[in-house]
Amino acid sequence: MKQCEVLIVGGGPAGSTCAWKLKRAGIEATILDKKIFPRDKICAGWVTPAVVEEIRFDIDDYLAGGRTLQPITGFITGLIHGKEVRSEYTKPVSYGIRRYEFDAYLLERAGAHVADAAPLKTLVRKDDHWVANDAIEAKVVIGAGGHFCPVARSLGVQLGQAETIVAAQEIEFPMTDAQQRDCLAEAHLPELYFCEDLKGYGWVFRKGDYLNVGLGREDNHRLAEHVAAFVQWLKSKRKVPQDMPEKFGGHAYLLYNHAPRPLVAEGVLLIGDAAGLAYPQSGEGIRPAVESAIFAAETLIDAAGNYSPERLAPYQAKMIQRFGARQAKSFTDYLPEGLKRMIGARLMGSPWFTRNVIIDEWFLHSKQAVLVA
Ligand SMILES: Cc1cc2nc3c(=O)[nH]c(=O)nc-3n(C[C@H](O)[C@H](O)[C@H](O)COP(=O)(O)OP(=O)(O)OC[C@H]3O[C@@H](n4cnc5c(N)ncnc54)[C@H](O)[C@@H]3O)c2cc1C
Repeated sequence: MKQCEVLIVGGGPAGSTCAWKLKRAGIEATILDKKIFPRDKICAGWVTPAVVEEIRFDIDDYLAGGRTLQPITGFITGLIHGKEVRSEYTKPVSYGIRRYEFDAYLLERAGAHVADAAPLKTLVRKDDHWVANDAIEAKVVIGAGGHFCPVARSLGVQLGQAETIVAAQEIEFPMTDAQQRDCLAEAHLPELYFCEDLKGYGWVFRKGDYLNVGLGREDNHRLAEHVAAFVQWLKSKRKVPQDMPEKFGGHAYLLYNHAPRPLVAEGVLLIGDAAGLAYPQSGEGIRPAVESAIFAAETLIDAAGNYSPERLAPYQAKMIQRFGARQAKSFTDYLPEGLKRMIGARLMGSPWFTRNVIIDEWFLHSKQAVLVA
């Protein structure tokens, strides 16, 4: 039986950031991931400067490996079938990355012992420790396995019907020279178009030679139809190549306020999508994933080998202090649908509202201070 102090299930941004932070404090973690890295992850691949700072991301080192890092200096927004509003800035306000490269880079940088192609199949509590896959003994387990995290499942989380998910479809592909000439989407200006019922939005995001197109809704009915109609509309505006590939991949995740998942259990912390942390308005999940990972690592470092419930409780307290208590309903949920659509259409067309509220507040969280780890 292999012994380890900390077992992290999932090597995405949450798991790798937690291992990286622990390693800097002299604690070796073991990471299990069911996939072999580099691996694809369905995602638009947009990260905010806060993430870059919080994980001490070395842009020059990243670029030296020939990886894609697209500076973003603004956004084009609007309603699907509505008019476009451009919000531009004088310096990069975000970056576009490819998850295939970004996640592998972070995992390697973490310097943890990584077992990939190693899905967690069983997790059993024995006395004061955990036994994973009948092969690894760990004093504490971090569930970082994304939306379908088996650690969350083992805590009794009912995945599926019991949760209000964001259902999303996305495609990312390298454009041929002819497609690049045909595509009017600009690399530094991702485009975000909201559904008329405001239950989600679609995007087109050019990153270097790659194009990423997708749509997510907090409602999983007729998603494929929404996606097909969105792509047709983008084609009519020449925002995507006419002959773009058609096979989209699908994935789900949870917005913070609507996630009924625990953060802490006996000998376990859930972080990232496993805990359901994405920002409610934008669906950005990478920043909450790395922030929760940093809080989890800090909690384990302070626990100094004693992972009793009292010593793990500070993780939950830090999360609530940072993200607030989860609130299942907001005041807009009480507005009639028609009124909501009317107000939405009016506000989406306003350059002031778009820049100050939609972009600065909801998407860039410019008032949320960078976490000083
Ligand atoms: C279509 C779409 C677009 C998105 N776009 C953005 C965006 O542009 N910007 C942004 O910030 N967020 C975006 N998000 C959200 C973002 O992708 C997630 O919030 C983020 O990936 C969470 O990171 P994580 O490490 O918690 O989980 P993940 O990145 O999902 O990593 C989980 C890891 O766990 C592993 N795993 C799963 N099951 C097991 C198992 N049984 N055993 C072992 N390992 C396992 C997986 O292989 C994976 O490597 C998007 C999400 C979707 C669906």
